[in-house]
Amino acid sequence: MTHLSTLLFSSLVFALGAQAATTTTTTTIGCCRLLEDAFGSLVVYPDSAQYNSSVSSYFFLEQRQIPPTCIVQPTAANEVSNIVKTLSSCSDVEVAIRSGGHSPNVGFSNASNGITLDLRSLNSIVLAADGKTVSVGTGNQWGDVYQKLDSLGKTVVGARVFDVGIGGFLSGGGISFFSPRDGFGCDNVQNFQVVLASGAIVNANAQENQLLFKALKGGQNNFGIITRFDLFIKTTAKFWGGAIVTPESADAAQLDAFTKFKQAAYNPLIEIEQTFVYYGSQKSYFVSNNLFYLSSSSNISALDSFTSITPQLSSTLRISDVASFASEVEAGQPINQYTVYATTTFPITSTNLKLIYTLWKTTTDQLAATIPETISAMTYQSIPPPPTEGAPKNLFPFKDPSQTHPLVLLLISVYSPYEKDYALLQQTSKEFITAVETLLKEPGNGGVSPYKYLNYAASWQDPISGYGAVTIKEMKSTAAIYDPKAFFQTVVKGGYKLK
Ligand SMILES: Cc1cc2nc3c(=O)[nH]c(=O)nc-3n(C[C@H](O)[C@H](O)[C@H](O)COP(=O)(O)OP(=O)(O)OC[C@H]3O[C@@H](n4cnc5c(N)ncnc54)[C@H](O)[C@@H]3O)c2cc1C
Repeated sequence: MTHLSTLLFSSLVFALGAQAATTTTTTTIGCCRLLEDAFGSLVVYPDSAQYNSSVSSYFFLEQRQIPPTCIVQPTAANEVSNIVKTLSSCSDVEVAIRSGGHSPNVGFSNASNGITLDLRSLNSIVLAADGKTVSVGTGNQWGDVYQKLDSLGKTVVGARVFDVGIGGFLSGGGISFFSPRDGFGCDNVQNFQVVLASGAIVNANAQENQLLFKALKGGQNNFGIITRFDLFIKTTAKFWGGAIVTPESADAAQLDAFTKFKQAAYNPLIEIEQTFVYYGSQKSYFVSNNLFYLSSSSNISALDSFTSITPQLSSTLRISDVASFASEVEAGQPINQYTVYATTTFPITSTNLKLIYTLWKTTTDQLAATIPETISAMTYQSIPPPPTEGAPKNLFPFKDPSQTHPLVLLLISVYSPYEKDYALLQQTSKEFITAVETLLKEPGNGGVSPYKYLNYAASWQDPISGYGAVTIKEMKSTAAIYDPKAFFQTVVKGGYKLK
């Protein structure tokens, strides 16, 4: 990277108002040199091919625009351990932990003028001899795991999009094609291998370090660096699913279908994401329904209310495997965009989806008036059921599916190809979520759940507060045991911190 581009990057950081931005200090450079002395070529600097490749591999543009002073690329847990020990001897540095780099939140997995630990080389995938678990390095993409297991008729509870990373997805919860049946991805972790702030490498599972085991299921990067996830393997035949796209004229029928689906009895085999989309480049609205039914039968009457909506612009419904579905969903994602995700959660009523949809269209029309190329998407989906009684718990505040099934998880994502629009994307998402929650609090509109899904939350949201006061107290006690000097609260600044 040239000095000119470094300067350009610096001005972008300023323009982005990145909460993680700090001025490069001699201590950060000194710390990079200390790491280089110990780890040699694992430490890379601006201008090198490895540095540029790491920075350009973030999914969203805003995360590419905050250059770290150096990037460290460990290849094994013991290297991560030694790196953490070295970092603890540096003062006044900011460190970021990065796996797949899919967080849209600036600074969550990249450290502006700091040190980013790029964990993508922790990418082993090893099946246990008993066939019950697979050990997956945090640096993999989910698609790598699916490709390995699909041919064996096996799978794991991972992301619905091929190139999403393992570490952020599972430490924030993780919603999968299989979640209506198997819960959050994190509930299907048998063991976490974790590097603590002391550099110690420990296992957290139902028998060892139980408090840590629970805290890592929704606790993001507050407790340690997870280097490996041992995941329960699920047996799965190919199953039914795909996407149906309908034009704006079908929106009312789509909203009716999703309302009925949420009001009907819980069916753990159905997974649906209903997404209303506006594409500025085409000046058109449409709906994309991702529909999945965990059965290899092609006669799926349970989803007739969606599949019978006409006219259809396209349909990819078929029987297929996880890698194929995850590739298809990936192909539908806007790329090379500045993006803000934001979320809320609320109980369904017979009218509230339509009211929110009207708000979203107004918001989108206003955004498109300023950013003609914008993409705006609003997705309705479900919250996975909690672990069954007696199974290890996660941090989320739900006891049984009768609490989660009536809830709708809303994700709004707004996009622009231009950096200058980033502040407007933030403001738009914030005003939209505020307007939705105000609307929902009106009598008869169902109210708002305090729970916000961490992996969809904007940087201005506070998903940990939705776990509840008792759980937060427990998280703080766990952090005091495993990270007494608060390394993950103070040195690792990106992410949602325990307040
Ligand atoms: C295109 C796309 C598709 C998506 N699809 C889904 C989906 O199907 N289901 C779903 O639930 N979510 C989905 N998400 C959201 C996704 O779960 C989050 O963005 C998640 O954070 C991505 O994980 P990552 O490892 O790629 O992220 P990163 O950006 O690398 O990390 C995100 C956060 O996790 C922390 N972190 C990462 N690795 C570790 C680790 N090993 N130890 C400790 N902390 C760590 C980072 O410090 C950071 O704060 C999607 C996002 C995108 C952009």
